Amino acid sequence: MNIIKNYVNGQIVGSSTDEQDVFDPSTGESISKVLLSNEKDFQSVIESSKKSQLSWSQTTPLKRSRIISKYKNLIENSLEELAQLISKEHGKTLEDAKGSITRGLEVVEFACGIPHLLKGEFSQNVGTNVDSWSVRQPLGISAGITPFNFPAMVPMWMYPIAIACGNSFILKPSEKDPSCSIKLAQLFTEAGLPDGVFNVIQGNKMVVDMILRSPDISSISFVGSTPVAKYIYEESAKNLKRVQALGGAKNHLVVMPDANLEQAVDGIIGAAYGSAGERCMAVSVAVAVGDIADELVEKVNYKAQTLKVGPWTDLESEMGPVISKEHKEKIENYITQGAEEGAKLISDGRNYKIQGYENGYFVGPTLFDKVTKDMTIYKEEIFGPVLSVVRTKNYEEALSLVNEHAFGNGTSVYTSDGEVARHFTTNSKIGMVGVNVPIPVPMAFHSFGGWKQSLFGGHSMHGMEGVNFYTKLKT
Ligand code: NAD
Repeated sequence: MNIIKNYVNGQIVGSSTDEQDVFDPSTGESISKVLLSNEKDFQSVIESSKKSQLSWSQTTPLKRSRIISKYKNLIENSLEELAQLISKEHGKTLEDAKGSITRGLEVVEFACGIPHLLKGEFSQNVGTNVDSWSVRQPLGISAGITPFNFPAMVPMWMYPIAIACGNSFILKPSEKDPSCSIKLAQLFTEAGLPDGVFNVIQGNKMVVDMILRSPDISSISFVGSTPVAKYIYEESAKNLKRVQALGGAKNHLVVMPDANLEQAVDGIIGAAYGSAGERCMAVSVAVAVGDIADELVEKVNYKAQTLKVGPWTDLESEMGPVISKEHKEKIENYITQGAEEGAKLISDGRNYKIQGYENGYFVGPTLFDKVTKDMTIYKEEIFGPVLSVVRTKNYEEALSLVNEHAFGNGTSVYTSDGEVARHFTTNSKIGMVGVNVPIPVPMAFHSFGGWKQSLFGGHSMHGMEGVNFYTKLKT
């Protein structure tokens, strides 16, 4: 059976004999194994990163930029192959996988501008005949620990900028879908990146803990669930590392009575059920304001039922399975709990079976109405194709819901009232806010990050936040 190993110094290597199954979520079959790296594997990564660091930091930003520019072309040419690697292990549709790589590619494009981005600031005559200037210098070795749901895009939020800034980068991808990280690293070597500047180490919590404790690693970028994000933040601080730790989400989409209903429904369907709800920017709560609720629920339910659920190999599939058997069970338990706690279960995705894929981890599009804020399905992140509709009397009540929730990743309002739109974007306590768009995901030249329990640390990902995170200021 194929074993997915580490990528160190431009080579595929690994000495550990510990492995873990990687599954095809559509069939439930084990398709390969991933190495669970040990201390020796980790040390070889550290040695390689240390060796490459100095000369890479001294390579001119323009030369770094040219390598990154070649990398961009290679990724474009390998889009289909990368997307297949993602879909095979994650289960999302091929179109979704391609879309996510394209979003990652935008960060690579942004990183091509690094000579400009690192220009610094200069003031002449801060005193008589005295000048002052500031430059940003690399940190050294940066590490990234990433989740299963975007095995290309989330790492690409990190390493293109870290590397462009002159750091070496160590990626610890999710053990659930590790293949695409190796291909991404190989393409960078092909583009001319010196060996050791970008290393990939496979593994689980054991490797994460080695990263956290390593005195050679200067910064940690993490994306994943909130409990682990908190742990990473606290442990990084204990070990005196710079850290950005992005956590979970419970994104609310507010539909005002004056909204274009068709537009809102289309937005909700894509954002709630796309990628089986396994997106940190998925909409998991629709807040129906005033008398729009009945019609909204009816239309969302109708469209959700017409979604084609199936394996990624069927190009007509609009929604794939969830990542694992355990996760499917967890989602189904939430559905049971929602019904028990009194929410109205309009459509039930439990025990969803697809002919020929009976062992796949499919959950059907699920819709709850009349969810209230004391219910578990409202408070916790489900991370599956489950949409909760909460009804409110007015806009103020809707905004309070958004602001009082523990998570603060993204939110959006559908309205045709400019005053409401402006009030909402100004007063919502959320990191990323949209008007008449379902998922307000920032482009690469802006920065991505939530508030409250959705991000710990002072920096969001990519854009200038990324450049600042991966460099130290010298004046
Ligand atoms: P996860 O927290 O289980 O795992 C993320 C990474 O941490 C993986 O590499 C994993 O190996 C490692 N890890 C897991 N448990 C650990 C532990 N106890 N100690 C140390 N390391 C550990 O997350 P996941 O299930 O892979 O991804 C889904 C989660 O990620 C969701 O909560 C989702 O909202 C979140 N997410 C957030 C964003 C964002 O931008 N805020 C983006 C994508 C995903």
